Amino acid sequence: MSILIRNGTLILPDGPRQADLRTEGGVITQIGPGLPAGDSQVLDASGKLVFPGFIDTHTHFEMNKGQPNETADNWASGTRSALCGGTTTVLDFAEPVRGASLQSALDEWHARADGKAACNYSFHMTIKDWTPAIRAELPAMTAQGITSYKVYMAYPIGISDVEIYEALQAIGAEGGVCGCHCENGPLADARIARLLAEGRTGPDAHPEARPVQIEAEAVVRYLTIAELAGVPVNIVHLSAARSLEAVRAARARGQKLYVETCPQYLLLDDGVYHLPGFESAKYIFAPPARPAGNQEALWQGLADGTVDTIGTDHCSFTTAVKALGRDDFSKIPGGLPGTEDRGILLYTYGVASGRITPHRMMELLSANPARLFGMYPQKGALQVNSDADIVIYDPNKTGRICAAVNHSACDYDPYEGMETVGGVDAVLLNGVPAVENGEPLGGPGGRFVPRGPSQFWR
Ligand SMILES: [Zn+2]
Repeated sequence: MSILIRNGTLILPDGPRQADLRTEGGVITQIGPGLPAGDSQVLDASGKLVFPGFIDTHTHFEMNKGQPNETADNWASGTRSALCGGTTTVLDFAEPVRGASLQSALDEWHARADGKAACNYSFHMTIKDWTPAIRAELPAMTAQGITSYKVYMAYPIGISDVEIYEALQAIGAEGGVCGCHCENGPLADARIARLLAEGRTGPDAHPEARPVQIEAEAVVRYLTIAELAGVPVNIVHLSAARSLEAVRAARARGQKLYVETCPQYLLLDDGVYHLPGFESAKYIFAPPARPAGNQEALWQGLADGTVDTIGTDHCSFTTAVKALGRDDFSKIPGGLPGTEDRGILLYTYGVASGRITPHRMMELLSANPARLFGMYPQKGALQVNSDADIVIYDPNKTGRICAAVNHSACDYDPYEGMETVGGVDAVLLNGVPAVENGEPLGGPGGRFVPRGPSQFWR
C-alpha cells in the first residue's frame, strides 16, 4: 500500500517544511514538493501539521492484572486510546513479581500485548531486586531489544542506593538507560503514618505526605549516584521547580541526564486535592500535583530544553477502584489515565498558547523519546527510510476533553472539560491508515519494537 500525504506542513528533523510525503511498504519513501500521485492513495493535509508518530514514554496497561485494583485499560483498550491521540508507539513498564526473573516479566508482557496492541510498543524493564541472577540477565534483555530500565526509591519495591549504583553501572555497560522514580520513600511513609494518626484520612492529606522536598532530595541523590557510577540516567515524571534546579545544576557540572515530565504536572495544581466529596481521589498519583507556580516552571523547562520527554504515566484506575482507599488516602491506588490526551494538551497549552513551537513539540513527543530509548531514526522522524508512523494534526478544530468521547476504558478523564485547540485527524501506523477523523479504523495492528542502545544526544 502506498500513500501520498499532500500539501501538509511536515515537521521535519531540521524544521517545518511545506511538502508532500509518500509511504510505501510501511516506510517513508519520498519527501518533496509536488510529488506525483501515481497509484498512491492521496490524503490531503492542506492546512494541517504532519508529525512523526508520537511516542508515550510511560504507560502502565493491564497493571495489577487479576487483582481487585486492576487498571481499567488492558492492552487492547489502552493502545487504542493512545493511537487515537496520535501515539503510535508506547513504552510500557514490564514488572517482574518480586523475586522472579526479568525474563518472566518480559514473557508475561509479550503474552499480554502481542496480537492485541493497536499501536506499536516496547517495554521498559522494572528492577525490583538487584541480585547476581538479575544482573546476569541484562545481556539477554539487550538481545531481545530491551534497553531501558526503571528503579524506584519509593514504595515497597524501592531498592537501596548501593543497589541502584551497581544497577546503573551494569545497565550502562549494556548501552542502556535507567529511569528512576525519585521520591524519598521512607520519609513519605513516615509522613503518611503521622497524617493518618492525626485523623487525616482523606485525599487532601496526599500532597502533604509527599511535598516537593520528598522528590527534590531523591533527584539530587539519584543524580549523585549516577555521577559516581559514571553513566547517563533518566528521571521519570519530574514534577517540581525545585527538582529542575537540581537538574540544571548537575548539567552545569557536565553531567549527562535526561528528564521526563507528564501532562498532569504541567496542567494541574494541588487545588485538585480540595474537591468536594471523594472527587480528589481521581488525582491521587505520585509525585502529586504541585502548588501553583511549579507548572509554569515546567513549561519553561520544556521550552528551554531542560525537559526532554513527556510521558503520561497512564495508569487507569476507575473511581470504583479508587474507592478502595475511601477511609485511608494511602490505600487509594495511585495513577490516572491520559495517554489519549497528551498530544492535544501539548498542542493546546504549548503550541497554541505560544510557549513552544510545533518543532519543539515534535522533539518532546517523537524525536527525543526515540533517541533516548534506542529507536531513532526508525521511529521519531519524518525522513526517508523511517517507519511510516505518522500523525496528521488539524490545528483548526476546537473542542473539550471528554471521557465519554475518548477511547480509554476508564470512567473518568482527569482533564475533563478542558478546552482544546486542534485534534488528531488521521494516523498512519506502519504505513497503514489506523485512525480517521479521530476514530480507530482497525484492530491490533501494533508491532513489538526491538530497541538498540540509547543515543545520548547531549
Ligand atoms: Zn509510572
